[in-house]
Amino acid sequence: MELNEALARLAELQKKLYAYQAADSALYLDGTTVAPKDTAEGRGVALGILAGERHRLFSAPETGELLDFLWERGAELDQLRRRQVEELRRSYAQLTRIPAEEYMEYAMLTNEAGDVWHRAKEAGDFELFRPLLEKLVAFNIRFAGYYDSTKAPYDALLNEYERGVDTVYLDGFFAALRGRIVPLLRAIGEKEQPDDSFLYRHYPVEAQRKFSDYLMEVLGLDRAHCTIGETEHPYTLEFNNKDVRITTHYHEDDVGNSMYSVIHEGGHAKYELGISDDVQYTCLAGGVSMGVHESQSRFYENLIGRSKPFIQAVFSKMREFFPEQLGDVTAEQFYRAVNKARPSLIRTEADELTYCLHIMVRYELEKQLIGGTLEARDVPEAWNRLYREYLGVDVPDDRQGCLQDSHWSGGAFGYFPSYALGSAYGAQMLKNMEAEIDVWGPVSRGDLSGVSEWLREKVHRYGGLLEPADVVKNACGQFDPAVFADYLEKKYSELYGL
Ligand code: ZN
Repeated sequence: MELNEALARLAELQKKLYAYQAADSALYLDGTTVAPKDTAEGRGVALGILAGERHRLFSAPETGELLDFLWERGAELDQLRRRQVEELRRSYAQLTRIPAEEYMEYAMLTNEAGDVWHRAKEAGDFELFRPLLEKLVAFNIRFAGYYDSTKAPYDALLNEYERGVDTVYLDGFFAALRGRIVPLLRAIGEKEQPDDSFLYRHYPVEAQRKFSDYLMEVLGLDRAHCTIGETEHPYTLEFNNKDVRITTHYHEDDVGNSMYSVIHEGGHAKYELGISDDVQYTCLAGGVSMGVHESQSRFYENLIGRSKPFIQAVFSKMREFFPEQLGDVTAEQFYRAVNKARPSLIRTEADELTYCLHIMVRYELEKQLIGGTLEARDVPEAWNRLYREYLGVDVPDDRQGCLQDSHWSGGAFGYFPSYALGSAYGAQMLKNMEAEIDVWGPVSRGDLSGVSEWLREKVHRYGGLLEPADVVKNACGQFDPAVFADYLEKKYSELYGL
């Protein structure tokens, strides 16, 4: 085989993989937005075929031969191509280590588990979900061995979401945070809480939609390349760097819910839209890791969106959308309300300060489940004990406890820590950004272009060209969780007069 021919085949392979992904995404988007209710069956048939074809293409011996050939000629490739081959070989090795029957069996299991989890959550009945959880844990322990047999199972799973991260690293990270957050929370508990009742007045969906359009504009999301839809759970879906979709969910009795969903998903969208053209339609398109992705969404949501300058910038406009609901509220009151810190039961509704404690509970349980020191049947009890210990709250039922998140039902063990890592990365990015550019002057005028430009330069444009750890280093320098703890301490001390 000639090198040129091999490179042409490499490009073709990646374009085909992109096409399968695009078809899959389009069906998912359709199914969660505009498709009629009872139409899942047909999409399921199509999705199954697409997954099978993709698997066949990617795991074919010719694909392995092509990648080996290019790997051997690595010295003759440019950085982009070399990196593509490196990543594809990694995925190929992993995919071909998993026996095809197990792969299919697992796909069926997660499909069933998603359904059962929904019902179990609705009924608040953990026993319904328990047998599925047992199987999912067993599968993941086995898969961890396929991913990387040199690592402990949970470390191998963590590595799938944030390469280079393991339990030693995370134990230190979470202990450092817990040591600072818990005393802070205790001190806040003795202070008077701000009034946030106005957030829960009646906010008609139509006005909220217009407000979302305005937020998209402030975020600098070009509507020719990014639309906003409505789904049960908000998400971001990217086709390529010129076509990204975000969704939100409007709650008429809670204006902050959708507002911060839009800003959060908008942060994910900014990342995808900022990735450079030269990695499009390759395996390097898309954000580099879950942790880095969450660093971007949570950056916009919390570090910018819950900052005083940002709220001062958007609040007068917000009052135009909601004159009756916010006519008697000041920007300062609104700022305090959306930063109210209070231990709670539900992760997705947690404030910026207590959020990481929710993650720590899941991390501890996953570590023990995959490590074999906790049985699935003991999860509710362990969950409730840790909520009492870390957050000081009593869990009344499993619906508001260990059944609240969908991650485990989808087989995602090792995903949760990405959220906390992302928050911490973001705080350190902000610190570096502040040292280099005037962040808050423009933000207080509703101008986020400088922030976006900085993030695009340091994080977005690379896509998967660099390792996650190198992207983090590029934007954060030497990672230090104390920077995040310092940020929280400063912000909440001011908010609560500590
Ligand atoms: Zn997110």
